[in-house]
Formats: sequence, C-alpha cells, structure tokens
Amino acid sequence: MLRTARLTADEAGLAEAATILKRGGLVAFPTETVYGLGADATNAEAVAGIYAAKDRPSFNPLISHVESLKAAKIQGIFDETARKLAEAFWPGPLTLVVPVAPTCTVSDLARAGLDSVGLRVPAHPLAHDLLAATGRPVAAPSANRSGRVSPTDPDHVLSDLDGRIDAVVDGGASDVGVESTIVACLGGTPRLLRPGGVPREAIEALIRQRLDTGSEGGKSPLAPGMLASHYAPRAQVRLNAAEIRPGEAALLFGPTPLQGNEQAKAQLNLSKNGDLKEAAAHLFSYLRQLDASGARTIAVAPIPETGLGEAINDRLRRAAAER
Ligand code: AMP
Ligand code: MG
Repeated sequence: MLRTARLTADEAGLAEAATILKRGGLVAFPTETVYGLGADATNAEAVAGIYAAKDRPSFNPLISHVESLKAAKIQGIFDETARKLAEAFWPGPLTLVVPVAPTCTVSDLARAGLDSVGLRVPAHPLAHDLLAATGRPVAAPSANRSGRVSPTDPDHVLSDLDGRIDAVVDGGASDVGVESTIVACLGGTPRLLRPGGVPREAIEALIRQRLDTGSEGGKSPLAPGMLASHYAPRAQVRLNAAEIRPGEAALLFGPTPLQGNEQAKAQLNLSKNGDLKEAAAHLFSYLRQLDASGARTIAVAPIPETGLGEAINDRLRRAAAER
C-alpha cells in the first residue's frame, strides 16, 4: 500500500506534485469544480492507475486538463464554435470534446479509444500552477472511489483514497462543487453531453445557436462514429478463446500462448507477465492494430475478472456485443 502524502498548496508542494505526475504517479488536486484524481494523460499506465485506484468497473473517456487554449490546440482540433467557447469560458468549468489533432499526445486509454478528446482549462489557481509545472495534459476524473460522491475537500479525498494514491494537494474546499459542462464540437450542431458549471443558456447566447441534446441519431449527424461513447473494432470479437482459428487475429494475455498460434493473422500480447495495469494501458491501441490486420475476428484469451480485469472485460464484452 502507498503512503498518501498531503502536499502543501505552495511552490514546493506543487513542484513535488508535478514530479510525481511526471514519473507516472497519481495526485489528487483541487479544481473549481471538485477535487480531481490526476495522472499524466500521455502515460497509459498512469491512466490505468486512475481506474485501479477508483475501482472503476468500466473505461470511459476522461477529461484531460491543460494549462491554456494554446496547449489544448496541440491535443484537439478546434473549429470556429469550439474556439469561441474556449475563448469565452476558459479557464472555467467547461469541457470541450473535439476531434484529436495529429499532434495529440493524450493516450488511447484516456480517450477510451475514441478519435475525440475531452479538454478543459481549469480556473482554480492551484490547478493552473500544477498544470504549468507538469507541462503535459493531466487526465483527472473526480477523486473518489467508484459509486461515491465527488469530493470537494482533501479530507473527502483521503477518506476514499488514502493509501491508494501518491498524494493530495491540500487546497482547502473547492467552491463550485458541480462538475464541468461538457459540449461536443465535432462538426454539425454542437451537442450538450452533460450539464454542469457553465449554464446552457450562456453557451447558446454566445454561439447564437441551440445546443443539441441526447445521444446519436439527432437531426444533425456528426462525423461518423465520433459521438459513439465507446470504441468498437470493425472485426468480430470472440472472448475467452482457447485456440486461434485460421485467419483470426489474437489478443493474448499472460505467458501461455493459445493453441493454433501459427494460424494467426496477427497477434499481440496485452501483458506477457499477466500484469493487468500493463494490459489496460495496451488495450485500445492493440485492438486497433489487430483490427487493422484485416482479420474478420479477433480471438481474445481469457482475462481474469479481478482488479482492472473487470474494466478490461467490460470493454471487451461491449466490443463483442456491438454488432
Ligand atoms: P468526469 O467523470 O467528470 O471526468 O467526466 C468524464 C466524462 O467526460 C465522460 O463520461 C464523457 O461523458 C466526457 N468525455 C470526456 N472525453 C470525451 C470524449 N472524447 N468523447 C466523449 N465524451 C467525453
Ligand atoms: Mg465522478
């Protein structure tokens, strides 16, 4: 078990927090919405650590926090509407979901394998200074165990996560306490994905347009697949495979190869040592690579249902069902 350090909200504390983040650790920090559980968004293993610490049973895309609109533009493509919204409401409790830029460094896992990225520039001065000191996007969902309420002070964070994360920056109570408003700008009419700290009316007044709501299939179709909330490969997915059949691609786990190895069109091992964190970090990029092999089916070796295995299996079951 880790010892969770309580870091002071000064230059030394933030420098320490940035060092921990850069080496792949987990640091909770205050934002103007709630306390976030941060990890280096570019490091998929660090992001996997967020899911492990929170005991989250499924992978959903995380919000990557950046220091400025300039830093955000390295990660995502901002159309006219996204740019207007960012200029008006950043820093602040607005998350923009935009298409990934070619220069995007946010890991697949933080994006849950999607071609879009959720970005926010927080207004809290400590969050800002931490991001500036870290110099990379920081993925941060709320700093609570799965199924518990979002924490608004460091004691809440510790009551859920003490011993499971490296540190918490003690910045006192956060003042909004509601989560960020999430708007997707992916072409077509921008869409409200989640109401939050910035009111819908303020957004609509600025862009002189009504936001779409609800899920896919609305009257203004977005770029295909962009708004799907879950990545799914084109190939069929066959779970708990004991053997690889001719022409299949294979997603392996652990030291033992599957039978019929020589027949595989392509194969990748999520973790030869059977390390679930490493497996989670590789999951989306390996699915994509195997899909790109052109195989009609991806055979997946059994993966234990413990710890991060639950979220990995959840994702794989959805991929197997979604066709
Ligand atoms: P939170 O739990 O506050 O970190 O918010 C995470 C939520 O942000 C997800 O459940 C999504 O609704 C949304 N989100 C973040 N990134 C994306 C993305 N690339 N595409 C769609 N929704 C996203
Ligand atoms: Mg939450």
